[in-house]
Amino acid sequence: MQAGYRFEQEVPLYAESDVIVLGGGPAGTAAAVSAARCGKKVMLLEKSAQLGGMGTLANVSVFMPVGNVTGFYRELISEMLAAYLPPGHDESIAPQYSPFLLRHYLNEKLHKEGVAVCLHTEFIGTIKDGDSIQAVITSTREGLRAFRAKQFIDCTGDARAAIEAGVPYTSGRDGDGMTQPMTLMFTMQDTGKPVLRQLPEGCEIYNEVEDLPQGRRLYWEQGAEGSLLVNMSRVKGNGARIDDMNRAEPEALRQVFSIVDYLQRSGYETYALAHVAAQTGVRETNQIVGLYTLTEEDILKGHRFEDVVAQTTYEIDIHNPDGRRTTDIRRIDGYDVPYRCMVPEQYGNLLVAGRAISATHVAMSSMRVQATCYALGQAAGIAASLAIEKSCSFRDVPIPALHAILAEQQAVFKKPAAEQAGR
Ligand SMILES: Cc1cc2nc3c(=O)[nH]c(=O)nc-3n(C[C@H](O)[C@H](O)[C@H](O)COP(=O)(O)OP(=O)(O)OC[C@H]3O[C@@H](n4cnc5c(N)ncnc54)[C@H](O)[C@@H]3O)c2cc1C
Repeated sequence: MQAGYRFEQEVPLYAESDVIVLGGGPAGTAAAVSAARCGKKVMLLEKSAQLGGMGTLANVSVFMPVGNVTGFYRELISEMLAAYLPPGHDESIAPQYSPFLLRHYLNEKLHKEGVAVCLHTEFIGTIKDGDSIQAVITSTREGLRAFRAKQFIDCTGDARAAIEAGVPYTSGRDGDGMTQPMTLMFTMQDTGKPVLRQLPEGCEIYNEVEDLPQGRRLYWEQGAEGSLLVNMSRVKGNGARIDDMNRAEPEALRQVFSIVDYLQRSGYETYALAHVAAQTGVRETNQIVGLYTLTEEDILKGHRFEDVVAQTTYEIDIHNPDGRRTTDIRRIDGYDVPYRCMVPEQYGNLLVAGRAISATHVAMSSMRVQATCYALGQAAGIAASLAIEKSCSFRDVPIPALHAILAEQQAVFKKPAAEQAGR
C-alpha cells in the first residue's frame, strides 16, 4: 500500500447508550433486543437501509435447519411464520420467508422493544482507552458522528470493529486463505405465458448444467405464488476486500442474466426475472481470534461445552472457494458453540457475535446460518447487560447467570441424545 494520510477531525458526539450494537443482521438484531429486555439502553447502528443482514439485503429467504428452534429465533418464527411452528413443535424446520416481510418485522420488533435504530450509519473507527473501547466513529447522513457506550457488540459479519481496534483475525481456509464464494440471489415469477428472453451483452450462454457457476440447479419453488428463489450464481473472492467486491458485483449480475436465460430455456419458459437482491451475498470474510476457536473436530465429534450459547445440527456446507462447481456437504449430529468464541482477549467491553466469531473455515461453514447467528446475538446482548451489572469484563461474565437469563428469555439448550439416554 502507498503511504497514507493522518486524518484528524473533531467529531461531534451524537448519542450515548449502555450498549451499542454494530450491524443489524441476525446477530445484531437479536443482541439489541436481548440487551433491551435486560433493561439496558441500546442503540443499533446499521450501515444499510434495512435490518436483517444477509437475510434481507442479500435475499437469502430460507432459514436453514439447526435442530434446536429456540429463543429469539423461535419467537421470530412463531410471530412471522406461525404455520411452521404449531404449539409444542420441537423438530428442525427450514422455513422459507419473504425478505420484505422480515425487513418490516424487524423494524417493528426493535421499535416495540425500545431499541434505538440508526440506519445509514456505518461504523468506521474506534476510540480506545487502554483495554476498553470508549466510543465508535460512524459515517452518517450528517457526516461523521461519535457514539459512546459502556459495552460494544460487533455484529458486522466482518468483525469490522474488532479488526479496526486491533483484534487478531483470520480469513479463509488454511493454506491459501480463500473464502467461500459469493452469490447474488434473485427471484423469478411465473407469468402464465411464454416470456421473451433477453440476454444482455457480455453475458455468457449456459447450455448444460455443468456450465452453471455452481454446476447444479439450486432453487426453491415457492408454492402457489409461482415464484422461484434462485441461489445459482457463484463468484470467487473475499467479500471484505475492495477489489474482490468491485469485481464480484458486476460479474454476479452477468451470471444472474445468464442463469435466467438458461432456466427460461429449460423448464421455466413462462418465468420472468422479478427481483435481484440489493447486494451480492457474502458467506465468509473474517473470523476473530477469540478465547476459544471452534474447529472441524468440535463439529464432527459433536463437542459440548459448559459455556454453550448456541446449538446446531446444521451440516458442514462449503461452497468451493476456488470457484469450481463443487460443494463440500457433510451431515453432522450436532454440537454446541461456546460463549468464549465471541470474546476477544484484547478488550474488556467488546464482543463479536454472528458469523465472524472465532472459528476455523470449516467450522464457520456450519455455524454461519441465520438461526445460529440469532442465538449468538441473543447471548451477546445478555452478556453485555451482565457485564454492566457486575462491572466486569466480557471475559468474566458468569456463565450460570448468562444461562439463567437466557432461560428467562426462552432460550433452551437440548441435552444431546447420548446424555439423555444416560450413556
Ligand atoms: C448467498 C447466501 C445464501 C445463504 N443461504 C442461507 C440459507 O439458506 N439459510 C440460512 O439460514 N443462512 C444462509 N446464509 C447465511 C446467513 O445469511 C449469514 O451467515 C447470516 O446472515 C450472518 O448473520 P450475521 O448477523 O453474522 O451477519 P450479516 O447477516 O452479514 O449482517 C451483518 C450486518 O452488519 C451490517 N454492517 C456491516 N458492516 C457494517 C459497518 N461498518 N457499520 C454498520 N453496519 C455494518 C451489514 O449491512 C449487515 O446488515 C446464506 C448467506 C449467503 C451470502
